[in-house]
Amino acid sequence: MIATKRIDGKARADRLTADVAAAAAKLKAEAGIVPGLCAVLVGEDPASQVYVRNKGKSATAAGIASFEEKLPATISQSDLLALIARLNADDRIDGILVQLPLPKHIDPQRVIEAIDPRKDVDGFHPENVGHLWSGGQRRALVPCTPYGCLILLREAVPALGGAEAVVLGRSNIVGKPMAALLLAESCTVTVAHSKTRDLPAVLRRADILVAAVGQPEMVKGGWIKEGAIVIDVGINRVAAPDGKSKLVGDVAFAEAEGVAGAITPVPGGVGPMTIACLLRNTLIAACRRRGRTEANI
Ligand code: NAP
Repeated sequence: MIATKRIDGKARADRLTADVAAAAAKLKAEAGIVPGLCAVLVGEDPASQVYVRNKGKSATAAGIASFEEKLPATISQSDLLALIARLNADDRIDGILVQLPLPKHIDPQRVIEAIDPRKDVDGFHPENVGHLWSGGQRRALVPCTPYGCLILLREAVPALGGAEAVVLGRSNIVGKPMAALLLAESCTVTVAHSKTRDLPAVLRRADILVAAVGQPEMVKGGWIKEGAIVIDVGINRVAAPDGKSKLVGDVAFAEAEGVAGAITPVPGGVGPMTIACLLRNTLIAACRRRGRTEANI
């Protein structure tokens, strides 16, 4: 058994948010610019409503103007695309975030591709994805969740170069961009997924393990290499013994403690970093769009 450190994502996110707020205040004082973030919410999904509300509150607290477009689930794809075109042309708005998932009749990729890449604060537009993979990270807007993971990893691991990193999950939102970021840090990266053979053996190779599968506590303690740094992206709501519900990650936290060198808890790990990185991207987008040097945060 080793002493496992808990990585405090909430505290790190608070520091990043404070840095964004300071940079936004400077931008306003020097140039009269207030960065603007617009969240587009289609339908009534309760979890999405909570996310959008929290993002709006965090933006306002950091000195970012928050806009919201709430649309019925029945909106047509063409009407949604027309709204995106209006937001692209609206100079008050630096960041556009379309809350996913979208209703079945709308193609999310079409919507993502309609967003002006300079306002694509989720970093999902093919132009930003291309910059990320082709080494132009400085020009890309990088997806928030993996970038938040990278910030935590850079602080937990003195030298990332050469480390064996395993990313469990290959979504466009988390797994793939996480792999690109770790590759850019000179890690040796393996991306595992539902067709991976002997997953426990693959995961046990990892000095750095990023779990993003959406399967409650799937990664067992015995799948983790002793001393590994574990970043748990999963957010899964499960039944609690008291009859209520609770949030758990993709890693069996109690089993990982005593094996991992460090681990992010759920909640309080990656989740807060995602929102802080969204604010950071909005600030960066506001600076770049106006040809201003972006704050180094
Ligand atoms: P996703 O799009 O559903 O992708 C899940 C990935 O996991 C897929 O690549 C899938 O493989 C793989 N997978 C699923 N079951 C597996 C299994 N039994 N064995 C091996 N691989 C398996 O999910 P996502 O959007 O990346 O999200 C993943 C988790 O992170 C979810 O819990 C989500 O709520 C959470 N999340 C958290 C934040 C945050 O801010 N903390 C942000 C985004 C997402 P295939 O590709 O082969 O199907």
